[in-house]
Amino acid sequence: MRCPHCRSATTVRTSHEVSNLTRESYLACRNTACGHVFAAITEICRTVSLSAIPGPAVRLPLSQHLRRKVLIEQLQTLPTQHHRRVRRRRHEHHAAVRHLWRRARQGRAAAHRLLKGAT
Ligand SMILES: [Zn+2]
Repeated sequence: MRCPHCRSATTVRTSHEVSNLTRESYLACRNTACGHVFAAITEICRTVSLSAIPGPAVRLPLSQHLRRKVLIEQLQTLPTQHHRRVRRRRHEHHAAVRHLWRRARQGRAAAHRLLKGAT
């Protein structure tokens, strides 16, 4: 941020969080002939790209290019957590069946070996 008086560059001396959306900073003008020190507030004003882990208390306007209607349509085509769980359970079931078949095959092979040994 530039000094509002002389337009020189500034340095942030210190800052503190006011809320989860705002931070107050103290800035000093780097022009020694000016010496202006001032406070500034930085505010988070809108979402440009959605968070993958959204905080339930955060209420931020969406950027104009993130069109609400398009987003809703995209969200509705995605599989839900439930679908994913069912798919995983189905996968686990198939793995268990494969394991049983493998054991059955091994059992048959062992029986054949025993029979061969007996004759
Ligand atoms: Zn200045």
